[in-house]
Amino acid sequence: MTRTIAFIGLGNMGGPMAANLLKAGHRVRGFDLDAAAVDRAVAAGAVAAGSAAEAVDGAGVVLTMLPMGRHVRAVLAGEEGGDPGLFAVAAPGTLFVDCSTIDVETARAMAEAAHAAGHRMLDAPVSGGVPGAEAATLAFMVGGAAETFAEAEPLLACMGRTIVHTGPAGTGQAAKICNNMMAGIQMLGVSEAFTLAERLGLDTARLFEVASQASGQCWSVTAYCPVPGLVPTAPSSRGYTGGFASALMLKDLKLAQQAAATGEAATPMGALAEALYALFCAQGHGDVDFSGVIRMLAARG
Ligand code: NAD
Repeated sequence: MTRTIAFIGLGNMGGPMAANLLKAGHRVRGFDLDAAAVDRAVAAGAVAAGSAAEAVDGAGVVLTMLPMGRHVRAVLAGEEGGDPGLFAVAAPGTLFVDCSTIDVETARAMAEAAHAAGHRMLDAPVSGGVPGAEAATLAFMVGGAAETFAEAEPLLACMGRTIVHTGPAGTGQAAKICNNMMAGIQMLGVSEAFTLAERLGLDTARLFEVASQASGQCWSVTAYCPVPGLVPTAPSSRGYTGGFASALMLKDLKLAQQAAATGEAATPMGALAEALYALFCAQGHGDVDFSGVIRMLAARG
C-alpha cells in the first residue's frame, strides 16, 4: 500500500532513509531546518514542506529522525508559548514513528502524549549507521503496541533488514542503549587485552586466533577488532574511518547512564566506558571510529 509519509529530519541518516521510502513507491513530504537537506530529499523525489506542520498535512504517517530528545519533544509536543507541535496539528489516528536515538524517559513521555492526542506512536531507533541507511539494511528496535508495530513493519522494511519488536513504548530506546553500552564496554576490554598482549611480546594475530575461538570471543574481536589488519573489513583496517563515530558512542553511553540513574541500575562499567570515551572525544577524536580508542589506551607516556 502506498502511503504518504511526513519525514522530519533529513540529515545524514534521515536523508537516505527517506530516499529508500521513495524508492519503494511511497510519497514523502520532507522538512528539515537545513534547506540543503531538504533540497537533497527533493532531488530524491520528495515534496518539500515549508514547516513540519505543513509536511504533516495530508500524511497518515510521521517519521522523525532528529538529533536528541529535546528536538523530538519540541517538534512533536511543541514548546511553551510557541509552536504547538505535531501532535496538536496531525489528523487524529496518525502513526508517529520516532527513529532518533533519544532518552527512554522522553520516548515514554512522547508515546503518552501521542496517545492522549488520539494518535499512535512507536520508538524505533536504528543501528547500522549511514552505510546501513543508504543500503536499506538498518536494524530497527521498536517499542510500542503490537498492532501499531504490525502496521509500521512494512514501512520499516523499506529502510532496514532486521526489525525487532522489543515490547511497549520506550523499549526500543532501551534496547539501543543497552546494546551500545555492551559494545562500548566490550571494545575497551578488547583494546586493553590486545595492548597488553603486544607489550608481553605476544603476536596479536595469535591472540586473535585464540580469542576468536575461546572465551574472549565477542563482536569487538571477531567482526570489529581494533588492531588493524586482523579483520580486513573492520574500520581499524582503514584508519578507523567509516564506522561508528566515538562521539555517537559517547552520546549513547551518556543516555545509558541517564537511564541507569532513573532506573536505579548499577552500571559501573558503563560509567567507566562513558568517562573513557569522553576523554577520547575531548582529545579531538570524536569523529574517529569508536575502535580507535585503542590508540589512547596503547599510547606510551
Ligand atoms: P544529523 O545531524 O545529520 O541529522 C539531524 C537533522 O535534524 C539535521 O539535518 C537537522 O537540521 C535536523 N533538525 C534538527 N532540529 C530540527 C527541527 N526542529 N525540525 C526539523 N529538522 C530538524 O544526525 P544523524 O546522523 O542523521 O542522526 C539522527 C539520529 O540518528 C540521532 O539521534 C543519532 O544519534 C541517530 N543515529 C545516528 C547514526 C549515525 O551513524 N549517524 C547511527 C544510528 C543512530
